[in-house]
Amino acid sequence: MSDYQWCHGPKCHTYHTQDRIRGVQGSKVLRTKKISINQYGYPKGVWTHFCSQGCWNDFMHEHWEEFIALYPRTECLETPITDPKKTTHTSESRWGNHSWTTIEFEKIGVDNG
Ligand SMILES: [Zn+2]
Repeated sequence: MSDYQWCHGPKCHTYHTQDRIRGVQGSKVLRTKKISINQYGYPKGVWTHFCSQGCWNDFMHEHWEEFIALYPRTECLETPITDPKKTTHTSESRWGNHSWTTIEFEKIGVDNG
């Protein structure tokens, strides 16, 4: 079984690449790229609908307001963590002493709200 999608990038058909050239002599076009999805489901995820990172970016730039309207974030989310522990580290070398601090904590759970 073989299936395909047309790339959903709004400008896909305008990019100047040899593999987009279609049509007969005297009537050539740059055509939206076709994405073949094989029986193993490859490509997967976003690459089943976009031929490249550029086309995905174009789509997001053109439609982000609609996506945000669909999935608004009206409140912040929080991830509970343990009390952060600050540790100061020092390193001595012939070029001098160097010290830095790290902050360590663990996630207790993830808020999926
Ligand atoms: Zn594309």
